[in-house]
Amino acid sequence: MVAAAGINVTKVETSKLKEMTLENLPFGRYFTDHMLEADYEDGEWKNIEIKPYQPLLMEPSTAALHYGQAIFEGIKAYKNEAGEAFIFRPFDNFRRFNISAERMCMPTVPEEIFIEGMRMLIELDKSWIPSLPDHSLYIRPFMFSSDPVVGVKPSETYKFMIILSPTGPYYAAPMKIYVEEKYTRAAPGGVGFSKNAGNYGASMLPTALAKKQGYDQVLWTDAFEHKYLQEVGTMNVFFIIGNTAVTPSLEDGTILAGVTRDSVIVMLNEMGLHVEERKITIDELMDTYKAGQLREVFGTGTAAVISMIKELRYKDYTMHFDTDTATVAVEVKARLTAIRDGRAADTHGWMYKI
Ligand SMILES: *Cc1c(COP(=O)(O)O)cnc(C)c1O
Repeated sequence: MVAAAGINVTKVETSKLKEMTLENLPFGRYFTDHMLEADYEDGEWKNIEIKPYQPLLMEPSTAALHYGQAIFEGIKAYKNEAGEAFIFRPFDNFRRFNISAERMCMPTVPEEIFIEGMRMLIELDKSWIPSLPDHSLYIRPFMFSSDPVVGVKPSETYKFMIILSPTGPYYAAPMKIYVEEKYTRAAPGGVGFSKNAGNYGASMLPTALAKKQGYDQVLWTDAFEHKYLQEVGTMNVFFIIGNTAVTPSLEDGTILAGVTRDSVIVMLNEMGLHVEERKITIDELMDTYKAGQLREVFGTGTAAVISMIKELRYKDYTMHFDTDTATVAVEVKARLTAIRDGRAADTHGWMYKI
């Protein structure tokens, strides 16, 4: 069967869904019946296929394994009470994916493959979207260089794929955070704004060291002075100071432009808070804390949506936040959840119907 977008579809004979329930599944561990795969060769995308989820056969010399041209996205699909399926803001992820691709010297992926392929894949695996509260279908598009050549140069061939993972409620316990002053996530001119695999690889040691000290994640600071706050773990960060919400601005290219970040800014504005996207130092943050103005600190991202922070440690000083009485983070999350569940009107056109 060949669909309008030139996407070949081969269906599984029996669905794996018969052997499992979609309740309380851990994040990213189970995958649906089908996947999308496309190859970039001779300057164009070919062999665009939706087929049974299966292992890849690769040469050990596959370029991505050696030189790290590898990027990805994270998106969620939801079902409303009527059983209709929607993807949350996929065009924003599509644009960001191609920004990542350009920075990593990779080809861009056209909308007919990224969006239409995703839509067709989810339509086919629609019964895998959990309908329980706080459950969703996590969508993972990714691309990697596939030349079987151990030589440092941009690859001539690439593979683009989409896999789907049903996921349960992602319980984000309030976090203890360590302000990182030694290691760096991103520097101006670097790749911090791109969602490439290497950024994650580089963050694992500092995070593991912070965990050893009893923290959950680090709060990244700038590469030069370790003063300007960037992101928390792999999430964007928000500080609620009085009636103002402050989040680090994007102009240095050191911060990943989160779709959740953007959605949260819209919600905060609608809630009547004043939102500032600007640079903020740890010293300014400490001053607002000591003056009793720093009410809440939270991280935002597709996986957990909102993660509250209960402790922030900088040098010998620890800031404490009572997350039980946090109101802003709770309301932002409730508003976003209502839009995703279809209980609140989608006034921003964020829900893309399958
Ligand atoms: C993916 C990611 C985020 C969150 O982006 P969302 O679009 O909200 O999921 C934030 N920071 C980093 C470093 C990321 O990789």
